Amino acid sequence: MQKLDLLALVPPSPDPFDLEFDKPREECGVFGIYSPLPQNLAWLTYLGIFSLQHRGQEAAGMCVANDTQFLVEKDLGLVTQVFDDTMLERLGIDDARVAIGHVRYSTTGSNLRFNAQPMNVRSNKGILGLAHNGNFVNAREIRNLMLEEGTIFNTTNDTEVMLNRIARYSRLNLVDATSRVMLEMRGGFAVVLMSKDMLLGLRDPNGVRPLVIGQRDDGAWVFASEPVALKAVDATFVRDVLPGELVWADKTGLHSLQVAHGQPTPCAFEWIYFARADSYLDGVDVHESRIRMGEQLALEHPVDADIVVPVPDSGIGAAIGYARASGIPFDYGLHKNPYAGRSFIAPNQDARALKVKMKLAPTSAVRGKRVVLVDDSIVRGTTSSLIVNLLFEAGATEVHFRVSSPPITNPCFYGIDTAARKELVASHKSLEEIRELIGANSLAFISERGIREAVGGPGLCLACFNGQYPAGVPLENDVDKFALEI
Ligand code: SF4
Repeated sequence: MQKLDLLALVPPSPDPFDLEFDKPREECGVFGIYSPLPQNLAWLTYLGIFSLQHRGQEAAGMCVANDTQFLVEKDLGLVTQVFDDTMLERLGIDDARVAIGHVRYSTTGSNLRFNAQPMNVRSNKGILGLAHNGNFVNAREIRNLMLEEGTIFNTTNDTEVMLNRIARYSRLNLVDATSRVMLEMRGGFAVVLMSKDMLLGLRDPNGVRPLVIGQRDDGAWVFASEPVALKAVDATFVRDVLPGELVWADKTGLHSLQVAHGQPTPCAFEWIYFARADSYLDGVDVHESRIRMGEQLALEHPVDADIVVPVPDSGIGAAIGYARASGIPFDYGLHKNPYAGRSFIAPNQDARALKVKMKLAPTSAVRGKRVVLVDDSIVRGTTSSLIVNLLFEAGATEVHFRVSSPPITNPCFYGIDTAARKELVASHKSLEEIRELIGANSLAFISERGIREAVGGPGLCLACFNGQYPAGVPLENDVDKFALEI
């Protein structure tokens, strides 16, 4: 096992002035592969989770199994830090049939190593491995009931609750036990689960979190959070897993069971920010939807200006759309330092400004210009004012802030760390107060209708904007704690 400096990987406390921290943060990415032909699956799983790294950067793990071995490795760090050549060689058994992988984001303060996935359990169905993306809103209730019955948990992770429930249905086979547990769990989740000879994938009844199916030319079936992971292993996209559907691959092929029926409400933030720009989810191209968001934003909130500048990288798609619809030229007004990574926690205002400068630098394009600055979201608002100030320092004459998501006023209970309600600037400040806080000449957010039109498709979860949670909320007592701990 590679030894990592845990303190170097985990910041001592969140820094609200960190560019990445002041964004909604994705919980996890999942990947699974079943190969009818025994082969080395560790390398393919590595490529799969590497392509999902944007969904979680704090821990990575994988399980690989053949008929006689079930190997597990997981640790804190990026995929490239956790899996070096030696480890991939150890996991690279030539006759593997099934493997799953996971990348995780977790809030600081939770025991990250402890909670890294995949999780494993020995049961009468053999050794099982499970990795999930999202959250079960009733996991605490189920955990408490199981604790009263004497169940012992090794982690504080919801994943272990689901895995234990599946293992407890000892009289049912793996598919039937999993479908039973799907009906017990509520929330927004996508799961991959494996035994030594079967790979299963499932999506919550609302399809809040994404999961797709692909197939390689050699017949191997692949389940993953996003199609980018299918491309990474040369698999062809087959289809999205349907909301409430359980799919599994074994030596007889791919199978499906529609376990639950719900109103599809996938997470709007997948298209706004989380998913990679070259993904497409539930039939909607992510990059194109971001361009449409920018176009909507321009229609809803036009302004006289000279250039449109994205906050890189996440504001690029919407900025292209804003420029197209408004006729104002798109320009490269902010350079993002690709080597900045995670940095120091700024002790004071001067250091905060320097830290933002370390990551973002205005170019000469903004000098003497009226700038439309486009970003995908404002969470705490702590970095927006620093970015606006950078542009003014570089000679911008006006800065008009345009945001391609509606104001975030509610926490997410489905696997996204949007921050607790009290930290969300839009939950307690008016539009004018936020504008004043960030120091822009004007500020405007896209409407919910605009997001729906830009993404298209059936329904969307927009709960962090409107408080209407389509897949339930945790028990009232848990709400504040939940918001802080997810
Ligand atoms: S509450 Fe917001 S972030 Fe969470 S699933 Fe719904 S749209 Fe996505």
